[in-house]
Amino acid sequence: MGDAIRSLLVKLQASPGDAELRRRVAEALDAAGQRDDVGPVLEPLVNLTGHDDDAGLPCLCKKCLHAAPVVAEAGDMRFTRSFAIAGTRVLHFWMLSDLDRVAVRASVTRALVERLAAVKAKKKEKA
Ligand SMILES: [Zn+2]
Repeated sequence: MGDAIRSLLVKLQASPGDAELRRRVAEALDAAGQRDDVGPVLEPLVNLTGHDDDAGLPCLCKKCLHAAPVVAEAGDMRFTRSFAIAGTRVLHFWMLSDLDRVAVRASVTRALVERLAAVKAKKKEKA
């Protein structure tokens, strides 16, 4: 484990409520290929992924996530698990292993932030 990540983890232990720091730690671990260590860091976040029985890939909802592998195949294609964090929420998803993880995460995060903002705006409208 790199020193930078270790020091981020120590900081996170000291302030577990810092969602922004938690995101940075999770993404740093992921970028370093330490996928097994990402799980516990993401655990306290709200998992927004819905249950899906017939996606062809293992389900990544709150209940199924712990049993899901990091890499899976569907058809002839290889997929790697990834995640996007917005505040205290996390969306787990499968992406083609060949794609750029950082770019895909950035676009999923953008979509997630927009969706959450839209939901919030709707709630305000109703209230
Ligand atoms: Zn599920």
